[in-house]
Order: sequence, then C-alpha cells, then structure tokens
Amino acid sequence: MKKDIILTFDYELFLGKDSGSLKGCIGDVTDDILNVFKKHGGVGIFFVDSSYLVHLKKNCIEEHNAYSDLIRNIVKGGHDIGLHIHPHWLDATKKENGHWDLSDYSRYRLHSLTPNELQDYFKECLDNLQNIVASVRDNYKITTFRAGGWSITPFNDLRDTFLDSDIDMDFSVLPGDFLDQKPINYYDFRQANTKKWYWQFDTTPCVEEQNGRFYEIPVTRYRINPILFLVNKYLHSKSVNNNMSGVSASYTSFYGKMRKLMRSVKYASLDDIALKLNRIMVRKMKMKSVLCFVAHPKSFSSSTIQLLDQLLKRHKSLSVEMIREKIKETENK
Ligand SMILES: [Zn+2]
Repeated sequence: MKKDIILTFDYELFLGKDSGSLKGCIGDVTDDILNVFKKHGGVGIFFVDSSYLVHLKKNCIEEHNAYSDLIRNIVKGGHDIGLHIHPHWLDATKKENGHWDLSDYSRYRLHSLTPNELQDYFKECLDNLQNIVASVRDNYKITTFRAGGWSITPFNDLRDTFLDSDIDMDFSVLPGDFLDQKPINYYDFRQANTKKWYWQFDTTPCVEEQNGRFYEIPVTRYRINPILFLVNKYLHSKSVNNNMSGVSASYTSFYGKMRKLMRSVKYASLDDIALKLNRIMVRKMKMKSVLCFVAHPKSFSSSTIQLLDQLLKRHKSLSVEMIREKIKETENK
C-alpha cells in the first residue's frame, strides 16, 4: 500500500575522534541520493550540520565552500533544508590527515552553553545556513530543526530561541526513548506518544498541547520480534560499507549498548534496515498514517541507495510544505 513518508537526512560528518573527510562522508554519496529522488520524484528533508559550516567558515574556507556547494545542489534539486547543530564543533581540532577531531564532548549539547551563548550560536548557525539556501532559492525560510544527539529536552532552554528564529517544527523526538549519559548527553522522551505521527506542543516536545506554538514530527517507532530483529541485523551487517572513513561519537556504555541490542523497539531508519526485509519492516510500522525515517548519508552503502530507491518507488515522500498541508487536512477532518 502506498504510504506518505518523510525522509530526513542528517547531513554531517562523523562526530568522534576522526570526522572522516567531507568527500568521503557526504560528498560522494550526495549525487547518488539526489539521482534516486530525480528518478522517482519526492522530496527529502536534509538536516544540515550548520555547526560544522560555522566552524569551517572560521577555520577552513575551501572546505566551507565545498560544503556550501553540496548544500546548494540539494536545494537546486528541490529538497528541503532543516537546521541541525552539534555544538561540540566549537571544540574541534584539525588532525594531521586533514580530518577533524571531535572527541571533546564537554559541549556536546546546546544545554551546555550559557543562555546567551546558546542564543547567539543558534542564530549564527541558522543565519549561515539560511544565507547559503537563499543564494539559490529566494524566499526560502528554514523553519525545521533536529537537535544533535537528539538532545532537545529540557526544551525550556531552547524555547525562546525557537520563537526568535521562527523555527516551529521539531524532528528530535524518539518516542519512548530515554538516555542518561550525563554530563555528555541526555534526553527523555518517555512521555511522548508512540502512536501519533505529529502533534502540537509548547512546553516540551514530548507532550501534546492543543494550540501549542510548535509541531513535533517524531521518528516513527515500531516493534519487531527478537528473531526478526536478529535476522535483520545479520542481513544488514553483510551489506554495510566497511570502508567508512570516520569514527562515530561513542560514549555509550556497555550496558547502554546491550539494552539497545536486546530490545524489540526500533526507530524507522534507512541506516539499519536490511534491503531484503524493508517491506516487512514498513508493514510493522502499521499504526501511523505517515512514517518518518531518519538516515545518515555518512553511513550509506550501495544497499542503502537501493533501499532508498525501493521506498521512493512505492511511497510518496513529503516536503515540509506538504507536511503542513497534511496536518491542516487532518485537523479539518
Ligand atoms: Zn547529527
């Protein structure tokens, strides 16, 4: 059955002790992604790591220009751009191999900045990205956000900045999930509705509030049985690209990793669905009328491109504008 889907891409390098290169992480794969969209139609929402952009502007102008060109190509392809921020870029250092070392996690969350720093930095990230987008598409305004490391809670620290920046749609919630890796990372989505594909909120993105000023579009959560979980894991591991150039931020404890491995809850992600099982997986996401997927181009392999191809062939991927229309439709029913 044809479904409405939302395909979101976190457009960034690796965020640990070796970032990998711009070309290796996202440069080479971007054309492949755009070509699949061209073939089937549909729109992707690219959450561009603008903290990387801001860092490059001050520290490496050639890489800044190359990253900007990639972003412009995405916009020219008719896709949407959202804001994504990893504040620990503030503490990045350049390595001998030309990559970046991002292993200083002391400012991993926006919440680790003072209120004034947070407001200024958020604005700087947004303005830089907005200018690049505006250079190829007039009147386009960035209105969507996904927090780096999903750290959107407590929202109180960000609320005024959202209002000042006219950001009214957030994509940072993994319903039901909870992570306490203080002081590095922390989020709590245990109160979030696991059945709805969107809701309005005001005080926290986890709790629906009628007439709230913001919209939450959570990543689709679904359940599979442990056997399917293991089969998928096995099939997927065979197709993973082994020459990935960077190192992911890894501060997750052994206990945290085990917990993830043992549970049957999954979040819709192009990064870890085995190609052969994608129809079954999509069927498991049954209760939602719109499915929201997350994807990381830095981890793409040729099988991820095929997965994207199959999804776009069967389903319709919505732009931010179409999401807004769909919400209006739903509310008028
Ligand atoms: Zn990210």
